[in-house]
Amino acid sequence: MQTILTGVRANEEPTLGNFLGAYTPMVNLAHEHATDSQINMFVPDLHSFTTPIDHGKFYNQIIKGIKYYIAAGLDINNPNVHIYRQSRVPAHCELCWILDCFTPFGEASRMTQFKEKSSEHSDNVTVGLFNYPILMAADILLYDAKYIPLGEDQFQHLELARNIAIRMNNKFNDELFTVPAPEKEQVKFMHLENALRIRSLTNPTKKMSKSSTVEKSKISLSDEPKVAAKKIMSATTDSEGVIRFDMINQPGISNLLQIESLLANRDLQDVIADWAGQTSYGDLKRKVADSVEHFLADFQARVAGITDAEVEQVLASGEKYANDVANAKLAKVQHAIGLSK
Ligand code: AMP
Repeated sequence: MQTILTGVRANEEPTLGNFLGAYTPMVNLAHEHATDSQINMFVPDLHSFTTPIDHGKFYNQIIKGIKYYIAAGLDINNPNVHIYRQSRVPAHCELCWILDCFTPFGEASRMTQFKEKSSEHSDNVTVGLFNYPILMAADILLYDAKYIPLGEDQFQHLELARNIAIRMNNKFNDELFTVPAPEKEQVKFMHLENALRIRSLTNPTKKMSKSSTVEKSKISLSDEPKVAAKKIMSATTDSEGVIRFDMINQPGISNLLQIESLLANRDLQDVIADWAGQTSYGDLKRKVADSVEHFLADFQARVAGITDAEVEQVLASGEKYANDVANAKLAKVQHAIGLSK
């Protein structure tokens, strides 16, 4: 069976960007491939320390993150669906160290997210931040995952994971790791035209980021629905005066059209056609604000209905499965590199 895998860090409250870029495709794929794939949705909690966090709130944030996966629609009664925490599967760190030693420093240094984040947090650039993509490669390669639903910002890291897998397969054993599919194939698998990048509401040339300190730039999944609707109403647009999908010249308007199509589960081209030629940005904002408000109210009610006991039960079986699979792969790697006979 092929494996589909994804994760969302638990360091801050996830945003609508995380929801539409990672949760939605994963949940859709989990339905579509309910019987022919293993569906691994994990919380990369060890990745959360790569930038400063509030450690006092962290544990609850992790548990909430798992409730979000369930509330987003993952079918936890499907035996092929596995939810687990990275920190409870020690093989992630063990494989990470091995992969570190087979990754040229120059190649890891080219990661644009490291360059961006290290300039944002210039007073606190850690080795962990630099090493993030190699741990991510271990997260993927341990489970032979072929498809990894991701937002556009993570595709460079996925390419690095592919390079590491190809290099190690060439050196040791052609079948050591499943090589994840390349970007084009991943995007097609998610039924998208392009990799997704939900934009900041205040600066639509940038992605909506959960670590942004500009509250109006992002919709957090815990935002009060009416407050979130107001953020959409005040989103930055442009002075063109006509509604068009044009990410280069009208990124704010295009972002709203994109959000509307994903929340309404409608084809982007159909939504674009509905609004083509219209001139009232206010009407479009009201429609999207309404969709966001309804989505959040409904989602938050579902989250509130999930108990901690349910989460514990889901994690107990997910973490057993993950350790079994990951340990078997780690043993294979240990053998290939000469650590065992
Ligand atoms: P992170 O917030 O770095 O843990 O990212 C978790 C997942 O959400 C990854 O698959 C990202 O690519 C995706 N993601 C984060 N922000 C966005 C965004 N603004 N648009 C689309 N996907 C996103």
